[in-house]
Formats: sequence, C-alpha cells, structure tokens
Amino acid sequence: MMKNRTKLWIIMLTSIVFSLILFIWLTTISGNIWNKGYDLNTLNAISQEMLKAIEQQNTYDKDKIQPILDQAHYQHPELRFEWLASDGSMLYDTSGEIQSYDFKQLADRFINLPNNLWDVNKPITLAYSTSKNGQPYYLFLSLSSDAMKQGQVYFFVRTIKALYSWALPLLLSFLVPYMLSLLFFSSVNRRIGKLNQALNLVNIRSDVVVLEDKSKDEIGQLTRHYNSMAQRVRSQADEIEQFENGRKLLLSNLSHDLRTPLTMILGYAETIHTGSYNNENELKTSAKIILQRSRYMDKLLDQLLDIARLDANALEVHLAAHNLSEMMRKIVAEYMLFLDEQSFSIDVDIPDEDIHELIDAPLIERAIRNLLDNAIRYGKDGHFLGIGLVEEGDYVCITIKDKGRGIAPEDHELIFERFYRVDGGRSGEGLGIGLSIVKEIVESHQGHIRLISTPHVETLFMVRLPKNQ
Ligand code: ADP
Repeated sequence: MMKNRTKLWIIMLTSIVFSLILFIWLTTISGNIWNKGYDLNTLNAISQEMLKAIEQQNTYDKDKIQPILDQAHYQHPELRFEWLASDGSMLYDTSGEIQSYDFKQLADRFINLPNNLWDVNKPITLAYSTSKNGQPYYLFLSLSSDAMKQGQVYFFVRTIKALYSWALPLLLSFLVPYMLSLLFFSSVNRRIGKLNQALNLVNIRSDVVVLEDKSKDEIGQLTRHYNSMAQRVRSQADEIEQFENGRKLLLSNLSHDLRTPLTMILGYAETIHTGSYNNENELKTSAKIILQRSRYMDKLLDQLLDIARLDANALEVHLAAHNLSEMMRKIVAEYMLFLDEQSFSIDVDIPDEDIHELIDAPLIERAIRNLLDNAIRYGKDGHFLGIGLVEEGDYVCITIKDKGRGIAPEDHELIFERFYRVDGGRSGEGLGIGLSIVKEIVESHQGHIRLISTPHVETLFMVRLPKNQ
C-alpha cells in the first residue's frame, strides 16, 4: 500500500528527473532558435576539411587554392578566408581586399586570437598553418562577432544575451515540480473536502452517504473507516428505533391485555360481593373465572418482571448437575393432570435412564414450560402434544410438538424476538415475550433452539443443549 509520504517522495524524484530532462531538451531547442551562429567546434571542423583538401594539391599556388577557398566562402558567406605565404604576402582573400601583412600584423593576429573571442566588438580570426616543401603557409578564417554564437550552455557564455535562451527552460523546469505538487495537494484537498462534507451530513435520521475511494493511502483508509462508521451509526439507529417501537407496542399491548381480564375479574367479583348469583354453580363458575384471569395476569406480570430483570443485567446462570429425564417426567406428569379434561392426545418420549446435565434447573424448566404453554395455547386445535428427550452425540435434545395452526415461514425468525406476536396477537394471548426468554435461556446454556412448522401437520420446537462431562 502506498502512503502519502511515499507518494511525495516519488513525486519529488520524478519531478527532479523530469525537470532535468525538460531543461536539457528545452535549452537545446531554445538554443537552436535564439542562439544561432558559428561556434569554435564548427569553425575548426570547416578549416580542417579545407586543410585536408589543400594538402591534396601538389602545389600551393593561388590558382590551386583559390577554388577551395571560394567554395568554402560560397557555403559560408559570413566567413572570410585568407591564404598567406610565410612572409606575410597575401596569396588569396575571399573578401577581395588583397593586402600584405608585415611581421607585426601577422604576429598580432596570432597573439590576440583568444582575446578576440571574448571581445564582442572585434572580429574573430582563427589561424591554421600547413607546409609544402619546407615552406610554411597560413590559412586565416575570420568572421564578425555577430556571426558567432552568443554563447554555449555548459561551455561558456560570451554575452549576457545567452542567458535569455536559458530563462524560459529554467522557469519551466522549476514550474514542473511546483505544478505536480499543486496537483497532488489539490487532489488530497478535494478528497478531504468530500469526507468533510459527508461527515457533516452524518445524522441518525438521514441516509448514509457512501464515499468511493479506492486508493490505499491514509485518506482512502479514512474514507473506508468513515463508510463503516456511517453504516454502523445507521444500523444502530435502526436498532434503537426498532427497540423503541417494541416498547411502544408492549405498552399498548400491556394496557389492553391487563384491562380485559381485570374488567372480567371486577365484574365477577362484584357478582359474588353483592350476592347476585342464582345458585352455588354460578358462584363456582364466577370464582373459577376470577382465578383463571388472575392467573393469567399473574403470568403476564411475571413475564414483565423477567424482561425488567433481563434489561437490568444479563441472565445469571447457576449451573448444577441435574437429572434432565426426571425433571421432564415431573413436568409432563403435571401437565397431563391439567390437560386431562381437554381432549389432548399426549405423546411422551423420555428415556428411562438418567440423563445428567449441568444446567440451571429453574431456568430450563421455565423454558420447557413456556414451550409447552405455547403448544397448548396456540396449537390446541391440533389436539396433540408431543414431548421428547433424546441424546444425540454431543447434545441432548428436547422437543415439544403440536399439530395446531403452526407458524408461517416468514415469522420463524421473528417470533424469537421480544414483543413479536404473529398477527399482532389476539386478545388473551401473551405479550410476545415467552419465546425470546426461552431463546435467551437456551443460548445462555450454549445451546440453540430450532423451529420446524407445517401448519396443522406438525409444529416442532427443538432445544439442543451441549452435553457437558
Ligand atoms: P407470548 O408470550 O405472547 O406467547 P411468545 O414469544 O411465546 O409470545 O410467542 C410469540 C408468538 O409465536 C405468539 O404470538 C404465537 O402467535 C406464536 N407461537 C408461539 N408458539 C406457537 C405454536 N406452538 N404454534 C403456533 N404459534 C405459536
């Protein structure tokens, strides 16, 4: 992954290399445009070529040498060529001013050679010598200062004018790193700006603004963190809202579910109190209804208390070794007594041998009773109740079955949630708390609960608890 620091280094190095290349390239181009003229190298090359041609002649007389000088002058009109004998007498001059040099003039032209190169007012002369039959001859090459290059980068600067040809390339090559870093920082700025904007909009109510940033640097990381944070805020807000809705639902259900039985209790109690019943039988029925309704209210209040306790602190589990099969047989016996009068066929499948388990017995008993109560209450039109206990590998498995109206697949997950009731609940049914408590109890024992339901065929709740040695 590339950090911003690495990026900066890479930008620095590439911009150095790039600006160097650009500088060289641009100075060459600008030199070609603004720095025209001859330089020492080209002049030397021209003269060397001429000397070669001269040396091929068998005599160095004027008529042999003149065509060579004329040819060179024709090619380079700005250059003046002179051909001199060793005594200073002019043999040929391309400018036509035939004249003789005396010894001093001759010496001067040799002596001032390098100085003239730097003097912008004087013409520049280069002298070359060769000999034939022991006789020395001289080739002079001269040109005006203007025909000379103004200067040469990397070699020498003859005049200030040469600096003009460097100014632009220099400026541009300084601009390149500046522009690149400007580009880099404005991109960083833009990305931070986007993050800033998105962060400003984070709100419990609004939709999540998801930012796209695929780069792997710090800002990319920050953006991904922002995305997951925004999503977390969203889902937590959803959770809070769901919870809030649950509370509201509970309150309205509760007031309804407590009022209905209370009205009945009040009515029948009134009858008993005022003695306005007709016979002993009516009195008994009234008392029975009062008892039933009070039990129901008692149960609701118990569940409410459970919820309050669960909210206050997580379920406390006190594990101890218990005989599960005995415990279940005891519960079943109790239910059979109670169900006798209603037409329920009961199928019990509990092994005779002991199954010892480390459990919190009151909690597990409550879970089983909850499931049995539900099977009787919601599955009564199936007239069947099945209770089973088996050992399966590393688990013990408790099953409660009925053949009633069952639970639609879309409700399978939901019924284990607090306050959820299928169809919003009918009057006289619970608060939608029972199964959520069962689930919590089972999970606090590291077990899990499953539901398989085919309406009017079989609805089965299966609790699997891990066996512990
Ligand atoms: P409650 O305390 O209201 O009974 P539960 O959490 O125990 O709430 O059950 C939630 C919902 O699941 C109930 O409203 C009921 O509709 C449905 N339900 C639970 N057990 C059964 C069952 N054996 N058959 C059909 N429906 C059931």
